[in-house]
Amino acid sequence: MSESSRLPTHGSTKEAILARMASLRDHDVNWRAGRAWSLVFSAGDEVSELLQAAYTMFFAENGLNPTAFPSLRRFETDVVAMTASLLGSQAATEEIVGNMTSGGTESLLLAVKTARDWARIQRPAIRTPEMVLPVTAHPALDKAGHYFGVRPIHVPVTDDFRADVAAMTAAITPNTILLVGSAPSYPQGVVDPIAALAQAAQARGVLLHVDACVGGMMLPFARRLGYPIPPFDFSVPGVTSLSVDLHKYGYAAKGASVILYRGPDLRRCQFFVQTSWPGGIYPSPTMTGTRPGGAIAAAWAVMNYLGEAGYMNLAAQVLATADKLKKAIDAMPGLHVLGRPDMSVLAIGSERLDIYAIGDELTQAGWHLDRQQSPPSLHMTVNMAHVAVADQFLHDLARAVQRVSRPNARRRLAAGGLRMAQRVIHALPPRVVTRLTSAASRALGQGSGLPGRTAPMYGLIGALPSQDNVDDLALDLLDQLTRPNLASQTN
Ligand SMILES: *Cc1c(COP(=O)(O)O)cnc(C)c1O
Repeated sequence: MSESSRLPTHGSTKEAILARMASLRDHDVNWRAGRAWSLVFSAGDEVSELLQAAYTMFFAENGLNPTAFPSLRRFETDVVAMTASLLGSQAATEEIVGNMTSGGTESLLLAVKTARDWARIQRPAIRTPEMVLPVTAHPALDKAGHYFGVRPIHVPVTDDFRADVAAMTAAITPNTILLVGSAPSYPQGVVDPIAALAQAAQARGVLLHVDACVGGMMLPFARRLGYPIPPFDFSVPGVTSLSVDLHKYGYAAKGASVILYRGPDLRRCQFFVQTSWPGGIYPSPTMTGTRPGGAIAAAWAVMNYLGEAGYMNLAAQVLATADKLKKAIDAMPGLHVLGRPDMSVLAIGSERLDIYAIGDELTQAGWHLDRQQSPPSLHMTVNMAHVAVADQFLHDLARAVQRVSRPNARRRLAAGGLRMAQRVIHALPPRVVTRLTSAASRALGQGSGLPGRTAPMYGLIGALPSQDNVDDLALDLLDQLTRPNLASQTN
């Protein structure tokens, strides 16, 4: 079958198509073997089979109209209630209500949109609404601010990477409608001081959203297992909304998250309705129109399959593996875990070694770790697939440290070139730098997958004279990666 840029005139056989897809998948990161430290959350083959069966059973159904599919309505209300009961709904005096969404991003978009519309009713004098968030908060919140006209005010975190309550309180203005804390933050995996943030928010009559996208289905079980987890959910007065992704540590199929609110009045601001459409009255609870039944059904299935005991068992294994990794990384000369991560999300940093070069060594050894900045680090989200490979990873990490510690000719040359490029970049006019970075991003977009060595790129990005160049570089890369001619070149 040949790759083509238009719809084939005649179709192929099912066998040929599936074989072709399987071969394209050969170039993907091998998450089944625990090689990806992000993006995929797996609870093993049995859960996977159940998810596929449940998803397939409802793959055609549409959650857009709950009256046509009472089954999906039941799944959604059950999932929301089960999630809320894990996250403090019993301790709350108000009813905790919510909806399923397509993912953490949609949940966060809705939280910000709801806060904006709440403020329009409650505090109509505000013309330019603002939200105050720690710099570690997820970029989906900035996306929400960008989409809905809520200005994000980013506040630096403290030395332990947690939200700085005093600084965030000081950043509240008469235009502030929303405060945000994470449980935990994605970059360093630490839970922000939610109780203190909630107090500050309540004192100023501001809403507080807790982004528990990655932690909401792990922290409650970690606490029951004896880990010291600070209060972060609706048991804390002043927490007004909370997001939790089921397609992360809920081990659901992709496309499943929950957004929860303290009370139906607040959630009302999330809803949308158009009553004069010739097509009929069109109410919509979330951002999407058609809502895939499969994702809703699979989430219901896995929660009922695992139950509290199943999630506890998975959490115990994942947390034990994360503990082992943290200890071993801290014991390696030159490496350390950033801050004190509260669960199974962590970052590896180094005071004296080039951590991106270590990342490149790990890439060569077949591991996929995301690179982070400010400070430079490698990111790890531990899940069940890593329990069996943690020792192998630590072995490869130790080797990577050794190789990077021993400067060789190639690395000295690369470092020299980088230093020269950094000096040259500062001497060039901004327009030329923009053109250069565009060219660089086009080069990066070629070939199959992303480049194996990214340390030089990060070194250069760090040296770019203005943020605009970085924005251009990243957006050009996005553009290149989603051009059909290039996409078809990746084999
Ligand atoms: C993953 C994540 C998100 C975004 O969720 P998506 O499902 O990728 O849209 C938001 N916040 C945190 C803390 C996350 O870890």
